Amino acid sequence: MVLQTTIDLLKSEIPLHQETINLSEDSVTGLVLVDIINGFCTVGAGNLAPREPNTQICEMINESTRVARLFCEKKLPIMVFLDSHHPNKPEDPYPPHCIVGTDESNLVPALRWLEEEENVTIRRKDCFDGYFGSMEADGSNVFVDWVKQNHIKTLVVGGVCTDICVLDFVCSTISARNRGFLGPLLQDVIVYSTACATFHIPPHVTTNTKQVLPHPQEFMHHVGLYMAKERGAKIANELSFVAARKARQYE
Ligand SMILES: [Zn+2]
Repeated sequence: MVLQTTIDLLKSEIPLHQETINLSEDSVTGLVLVDIINGFCTVGAGNLAPREPNTQICEMINESTRVARLFCEKKLPIMVFLDSHHPNKPEDPYPPHCIVGTDESNLVPALRWLEEEENVTIRRKDCFDGYFGSMEADGSNVFVDWVKQNHIKTLVVGGVCTDICVLDFVCSTISARNRGFLGPLLQDVIVYSTACATFHIPPHVTTNTKQVLPHPQEFMHHVGLYMAKERGAKIANELSFVAARKARQYE
């Protein structure tokens, strides 16, 4: 009850407006799925995987799967980030996780079919932020090229963790857009909250350690969405497509 009271207080102190967003089929919308991999989402799969079934993570997987199918049906571009680390390059402050070549760094079973889809670009990254994780040694950026080549006007983002890799990617993308790195087309960055999740470490677990920070799930999920909105992202709790002809009737 104490935790619920805290969450209620948080939501009254920093209220977050979420909206139903209708995506127009008159322009290209791209979908970015961040780190929906076993190492973060499958029970018992690794050091940073959930220890027990988790409702928020299950709903995130179900909704991101539904949306991914919708994008594939419409032949719209999808970019998939997979956290993948070399065993000799740890990512402080986290314990070893999602090592290249292990199943931890692969998509969860519900999304594994994406690997066979023609409209899907898969990018393995070894840092929190998919924007920086897309940079090549020659200075080119796989994500930037993907946005430009597909003429993406609207970007929908889902995945884990709302307040870490999703937020970092959204912030970098908005900064890049504002500096003109993403061409003239990209306008809206939408965080799809129903297809996002974060992990749960209640404060009492961390009382006797300085290595692990408390991370109350509902609280941090809300904060992550709020901070993305603060940077200029739109936050959607429902998404649908408006058919092109129907959209034109209202012009
Ligand atoms: Zn990592």
